[in-house]
Amino acid sequence: AVKETGKADFRFYEEGMLEQARERLALTVELREALQRGELDVEYQPKRNLRDGSLAGVEALARWHHPTRGDVPPAIFVAIAERSALIHALGEFVLRSVLAQVKLWDASGTHVDYVAINLSMHELSRPAFVETLARTVRSYGVDPMRIRFELTESTAMREPEETLRQLVKLRSHGFDLLIDDFGAGYWNLGHLRELPVGTIKIDQSFVRGSGLNLVDREITEAIVGLAKKLNMRTIAEGVETEAQADWLRELGCDVGQGYFFARPMTPDAFRRYLDPSLVYAG
Ligand code: C2E
Ligand code: MG
Ligand code: MG
Ligand code: MG
Repeated sequence: AVKETGKADFRFYEEGMLEQARERLALTVELREALQRGELDVEYQPKRNLRDGSLAGVEALARWHHPTRGDVPPAIFVAIAERSALIHALGEFVLRSVLAQVKLWDASGTHVDYVAINLSMHELSRPAFVETLARTVRSYGVDPMRIRFELTESTAMREPEETLRQLVKLRSHGFDLLIDDFGAGYWNLGHLRELPVGTIKIDQSFVRGSGLNLVDREITEAIVGLAKKLNMRTIAEGVETEAQADWLRELGCDVGQGYFFARPMTPDAFRRYLDPSLVYAG
């Protein structure tokens, strides 16, 4: 009986794997089409200076509104894109969307200091990645100071030295770099010494845990303290309550981002958000 169950489980497992592979392939094909047809868009989430509540900048987050599946979460389609060459097309799409949006904001007198774009380390494998990117930004007439990159690392780096060289080059073009999800991904303390980054984003798991347990609170404090010693700035992500925002401000964390302040928004919703007088106008 035990053997039979084992067999049945194994077959189930195999079918699961096959199903998963099929699903992944389907999504890859659909993502390619969606990128070609322009079916993705970008939302913007405010980052607030904790000291005075002013708008520090925004983070650009890719959105895929699938015609039949509904919204596909970025955690899924970014991973799919990273497994294929689609990550390059996705990165280019987001960059161009952001640059066009910055131009629109500037033309309408909407003051947004900078947009932080998530950069997958897989994107660096494209030949002449940094040069192409810098040329694209120039072609829109946008100052590189307005664009920052949040470095995300979902797997251990395959070529750390080459990655580092590319990031130094990116920085030398005037783009500020942030380490995203610090403390939760593959970035480690050694990277703080090697990477040309000025800001650490504390992973939201610590921020969330800070109200619940002492360890997450201590870890958050330690990251803010470490950043101060290294003359780096800190952003807390996933701030969901006023208590968290207050506590982070007292700690000396510079910037907060999270549902407590605002969710990621379409450019239209963001315009209404910045101009409360428009709320009842429409
Ligand atoms: P991330 O860069 O760490 O972005 C933060 C994520 O947390 C976003 O999820 C955001 O919507 C969510 N978030 C913000 N505030 C809160 C909060 O208070 N509570 C909770 N529970 N969540 C909050 P999202 O948009 O689903 O994106 C997930 C991840 O996908 C991002 O994590 C980023 O790694 C990746 N991603 C998104 N857009 C892009 C993109 O254009 N390019 C690349 N390479 N990756 C992207
Ligand atoms: Mg990010
Ligand atoms: Mg993050
Ligand atoms: Mg994250």
